[in-house]
Amino acid sequence: MAHVPDRPTHSSLVSEGDSILADTLRLSVSKHKIDEHFTLVWANRYYYDFIGYPKDEYEALFQNRPDLYFADNPEDFGVIAEHVTEALEKNTGGYECIAGLNVKGGHKWVKFVSTFLDEYVDGCQLSYTTMTDVTDLVEAQQHLEEANVELERLAFVDPVTKGFNQTRFDLTARRVIDQAELGAYALVALDLKKFKLLNEIQGTESGDMVLRFVYDRLRAHLDGDECVGRINADAFNVLMRDEGAQAMYERIDGMVQDINRFNVDAERPYFLSFTVGVYPIDDTSLPMTLVRDRANVARGSSKEASNARHFTCMFYSDVDRQNLLSEQDMENRMHGALERGEFVAYFQPKQLLADGSIGGAEALVRWIDPVRGLVPPDDFVPYFERNGFIINVDLCVFEQVCALLASWIEQGRQPVPISVNMSRAHLREQDFLTPYEKIRARYGVPASLIEFELTETLVFGDPETFKGVIDLLHARGYRCSLDDFGSGYSSLNVLKDVDIDTMKLDRAFFSAGDDAGQREWDVVESVVDLAKKLDLGTVAEGVEEPGQAARLRAIDCDMLQGYVFSRPVPVAEFEQMLFGE
Ligand code: C2E
Ligand code: CA
Ligand code: CA
Repeated sequence: MAHVPDRPTHSSLVSEGDSILADTLRLSVSKHKIDEHFTLVWANRYYYDFIGYPKDEYEALFQNRPDLYFADNPEDFGVIAEHVTEALEKNTGGYECIAGLNVKGGHKWVKFVSTFLDEYVDGCQLSYTTMTDVTDLVEAQQHLEEANVELERLAFVDPVTKGFNQTRFDLTARRVIDQAELGAYALVALDLKKFKLLNEIQGTESGDMVLRFVYDRLRAHLDGDECVGRINADAFNVLMRDEGAQAMYERIDGMVQDINRFNVDAERPYFLSFTVGVYPIDDTSLPMTLVRDRANVARGSSKEASNARHFTCMFYSDVDRQNLLSEQDMENRMHGALERGEFVAYFQPKQLLADGSIGGAEALVRWIDPVRGLVPPDDFVPYFERNGFIINVDLCVFEQVCALLASWIEQGRQPVPISVNMSRAHLREQDFLTPYEKIRARYGVPASLIEFELTETLVFGDPETFKGVIDLLHARGYRCSLDDFGSGYSSLNVLKDVDIDTMKLDRAFFSAGDDAGQREWDVVESVVDLAKKLDLGTVAEGVEEPGQAARLRAIDCDMLQGYVFSRPVPVAEFEQMLFGE
């Protein structure tokens, strides 16, 4: 191969016409020898614009030798050389590649397209090469890749432990579970006890250190496809091979002891304790959130105090299903439950004693929980009254009632009034009625079809406020009933002061069943009498015996709501009873 660059002459290498045409192009076209320098033998005008060096300067500096031109970035020269070599070997007649180019005062990404010619100079084949600036494209691509990496990091990496976050854990665990046999794995949920305290005393930095440490120790105990993730704050999940409860318990024990080994020589040891729940995954159709829920339910129900081994552990299979509802558990789940529509109104019909027909119904909430099944309100309403969440639940029930009434009206069916319970928590809010009114307006349902059931405890010992609430409800057209009358606090005096529409006799009146003595019936009768005199409707609650129903009819009680007629039922069943189709 020739080593000394030729002085190219236009006449010998490019025809004059072609040269003129090439000079008008806004595309860099150059002709090279395929030697080790890729010696430039000719270039159009735009070539020099492209690299930023006037022709003379380029020739003086680099002597038409691209290898010299690439002296600062030999790797880019290498990329081109590689393509050339390959093209020659495979006899493809040319190549395309992208390489960096140090143009004057800057850097470009350039796409090279080269065609080998059937022309030779000094025994060297020639080639035509065009160069296109693809800097924007390449940079955009690089940004995209960086952004993807960053997104992936944000989506999958826990910033504290640098390990799996929940998303990554769930994806990984899901894949492992799906590929394994049923029953091969268990989800182990571990919560660090009193971590908040640790954070407060020692500062979040050392709190983070502890989390990182725990994560790393847990991971060190894993095998094969097992994985660990930090789910939130101080909660970790481990997907563990299910080799039986005893074996798993021993492994968990091993993990916890290992984590606490740093105390061995400590003067004042600080033990990290855990509450642990294990769900041996026996239903692979469950989404990861429910798998986790079950492990957490087990964890939440381990009652024993942390033992000398620094952890308590419970298996889902051993959980007493009746006893699942820890407050913390509910607190964690209530918002999601509301969003997922797990609070469902059931309807208990009220029977008109005069003719046995249905005169209305009470909406009673149930928590249809995918883990626990149907949870009765007594198991969660008292707790939600304390934390205020009952407001959301009440509004959710109210909305279901409005939707139901609206659908009846729309279908031309004769609606019956529905009552809803209103917790006293609402009264802590100014304008507590506004959210109700917004919902009702949305469904365009007349207020007269809705009754609020209020207990005296609503405004315990404050008849003025109670009166105010009822007046407000009446002003908007709602009906009001006094719930649980006779359950303890109520006194007949209230009835005179407060302008309610209906009195609901508490089921305590009827708890003795058909065996109730005459004295008890006398009380019921006088209460019903008094209600009549005050022009109140009467509903007897919790009636279970047909004999009681007959007696209530005899003393002219208006309605009955009790198991003797119907339990609270889902909406479809209620409609069936009401419209009989
Ligand atoms: P409540 O307002 O006194 O509702 C009547 C309760 O008596 C219902 O219990 C109903 O199922 C039950 N019951 C009806 N007939 C009979 C019977 O013949 N025998 C017996 N043993 N019980 C009968 P549930 O549905 O369990 O509701 C319990 C309480 O939870 C309700 O008592 C109410 O205080 C509260 N609650 C229910 N739904 C809601 C709601 O949406 N919001 C609020 N704030 N509280 C609700
Ligand atoms: Ca009620
Ligand atoms: Ca009641």
